[in-house]
Amino acid sequence: MTRKKLLLLAVALLLLSLALSGAFTGTGALQAAPQSVPSAAPTAATSAYEYMAELSDGIGSRVAGTPSAVQAAGLISEWFTQLGYEPAQQDFAFKAGGATHTSSNVIATKAGASTKQIIIGAHYDSVAVGRGAFDNASGVALMMQLADALRAAPTPYTLVFVAFGAEELGEKGSDAYFASLTAAQKADTVLMINFDSVAAGDAMYCYSSADQAWPQLTVRSLARQMGITILTNPGLNKDYPYGTTGDWSDHVVFAKNGIPYLYFEATNWLLGDKDGYVNTVKCGEIWHSKKDTISYIEQQFPGRMEAQLEAEYTVLIDFLTTYTR
Ligand SMILES: [Zn+2]
Repeated sequence: MTRKKLLLLAVALLLLSLALSGAFTGTGALQAAPQSVPSAAPTAATSAYEYMAELSDGIGSRVAGTPSAVQAAGLISEWFTQLGYEPAQQDFAFKAGGATHTSSNVIATKAGASTKQIIIGAHYDSVAVGRGAFDNASGVALMMQLADALRAAPTPYTLVFVAFGAEELGEKGSDAYFASLTAAQKADTVLMINFDSVAAGDAMYCYSSADQAWPQLTVRSLARQMGITILTNPGLNKDYPYGTTGDWSDHVVFAKNGIPYLYFEATNWLLGDKDGYVNTVKCGEIWHSKKDTISYIEQQFPGRMEAQLEAEYTVLIDFLTTYTR
């Protein structure tokens, strides 16, 4: 054998061993062996879509103060426990329709490098009509996939996941949660992230307050770099200035107390009164209607919910593992 042939044989053997060891990816790019690479983006065992289906198809509508809402809180608590968290149930009473009812928030904490914290919340209750898939099993599911993936991953900030009860009856859960925080905990909160109806609308949006716009600007810029389009309110309705949203979800109590918020939603601000209430060109409003079921939304928009949840998750996992102020 000539030297050239020997060299070619050696190269061929090297390539073969690399291929057998799995060092080649499908794209043909050569990468270091997996064990020598620090883990890339953390991954979740269960997807947001799966969490959403279990809550929405499994339980159905979850009106605060009813057994199905209690069942939902129990399921979320069980999910956190299975992931290795030690969830706390925070019970509270509220008045509605002249009577006093009870509901609960479910809270799970993941320690970060700093004791400064980001609160990540989504309401699990729904209205009676439909199955509360879009509003708001989708938001709880996105929160759960993040909690799932980040359980053992390093994060700059401590993350507090809160599944809020009784949002549909006037943000009772987030009010009760905020009232339970100490002055030090409030001072340590760098950001509140609210997920409310995050998959089904025509486009993905995020909002922040006008005077603390950095969360939506940062996240939308991050998304752009990943080839993901997240819009913000274009400000066509004078009641809701550019980049902001209305006083109708669990971000409100934080915003009123000067805490920056980042609110995710999937809707269409170009429709109706240009206030974000009409979610789709094709089917109009999905929220608070009998259309709010996974089967209806899938029939009208095949794959849309899964794609939006995945895109939002991808941007947020990057933001939560890297971003510091
Ligand atoms: Zn909602």
